[in-house]
Amino acid sequence: MPKYKNIEIPEKGKRITVKNKKLVVPAKPIIPFIEGDGIGRDIMKATIRVVDAAVEKSFKGKKKISWMEVYAGEKAFDVYKEWLPNETVDAIKHYYVALKGPLTTPIGGGFRSLNVSLRQIMTLYACVRPVNYYKGVGSPVVHPEKLDVVIFRENTEDVYSGIEWKKGTKDCKKVINWLNKNMKTNIRADSGLGVKPISVTGTKRLVRKAIQFAIDNKRRSVTLVHKGNIMKFTEGAFKDWGYELAVKEFRNKIVTEDELWGKYKGKMPKNKILINDRIADSIFQQVLTRPDEYDVLATPNLNGDYLSDACAAQVGGLGMAPGANMGDYIGLFEATHGTAPKYADKDVINPSSVILSAAMMLDYLGWVKAGEMIRKTMQKTIDKKTVTYDLHRQMKGAKKLGTTAFADQLIKNMR
Ligand code: NAP
Repeated sequence: MPKYKNIEIPEKGKRITVKNKKLVVPAKPIIPFIEGDGIGRDIMKATIRVVDAAVEKSFKGKKKISWMEVYAGEKAFDVYKEWLPNETVDAIKHYYVALKGPLTTPIGGGFRSLNVSLRQIMTLYACVRPVNYYKGVGSPVVHPEKLDVVIFRENTEDVYSGIEWKKGTKDCKKVINWLNKNMKTNIRADSGLGVKPISVTGTKRLVRKAIQFAIDNKRRSVTLVHKGNIMKFTEGAFKDWGYELAVKEFRNKIVTEDELWGKYKGKMPKNKILINDRIADSIFQQVLTRPDEYDVLATPNLNGDYLSDACAAQVGGLGMAPGANMGDYIGLFEATHGTAPKYADKDVINPSSVILSAAMMLDYLGWVKAGEMIRKTMQKTIDKKTVTYDLHRQMKGAKKLGTTAFADQLIKNMR
């Protein structure tokens, strides 16, 4: 049993372990949670109540989560005088699955972003964002229900990896001079610079995870999204390495788009997953014009960042969008929105994003029945037009509820 300075390990509960490359989940797993800053305090309280009720109702008391609070952000600073204590990272690594509220990045805290740090320290290389529509939620498109995708965005590379030089600095000048002299480039002296690495390692582990997810969840296709027509050796390579992995590791389970039209004359064989690719600008059109043709999308970091939010907007915005950051085994499930400080402690904010992230977490534990129960009660509660302020302002004849009252309704409407 690990020893922590400020984390209290629950007496009842056991650790999730990994055996034969699979999670082994006890009936009472210890799950660490980070409450989060700002509205984190409102939404996490509501979420824990809803999750406990769904687990209790689904498994009749035979399963139960032993929640264990770990600290990051402002609360960590109060307790440890540090924004991201080592023991928080150690605990999440040790217990494998955790839930997280939004965090403010402290100015002058020595971090680009606490969220990015958490992902990098724990090698959470895949940002997973399912996007599907809840009937009744206001949307800017005519058929939002046609979009039902899961985006796997690479989390550690690309222009996000933070290799940058500020215009005018000694280092920046040095790199520009070297490139212009040795690589025959023609970079203006008054430029800032950023480097965009995309590796075989980073690409393959991300695409592997996306294809495995598609197989496990009986999805139809995995689309490799890239801008390889222009950036051939980074984005183009992402596409090439993605196909290479699909053919090498999943040969009997997949068909590539070339094979579909060459070998199978356009008729998809049964129980196979189609691997295709689309250029980034094209996919932004296609998710609007032909949303039902797409299913799982695997993307490099920056494209995935834009695409995740664009897809979320199509089904009504970030207030309802769940997400997770995942490594080989660790899963950190989290709200996709920020700390919305002006609503903090007012008990008004919509907790759905983190509640639906917790439902993804239950699926990941293999407790799909409880995850499904949460998604169904969410639809039922919206059908009854009992919603928080953000959905209320888009819905005619709805009743406005606070965070706690909305969670009460979700629990009441569970079957
Ligand atoms: P934000 O906190 O997401 O809030 C922006 C607006 O989005 C809110 O004012 C609200 O709009 C709406 N919104 C957000 N969450 C909502 C919810 N649960 N229910 C209903 N509406 C919701 O973005 P921000 O103001 O740009 O960022 C604030 C802080 O959060 C920053 O410090 C940022 O670094 C941090 N942040 C953290 C994460 C993370 O931890 N993963 C992610 C993003 C940002 P209305 O006012 O129109 O109602």
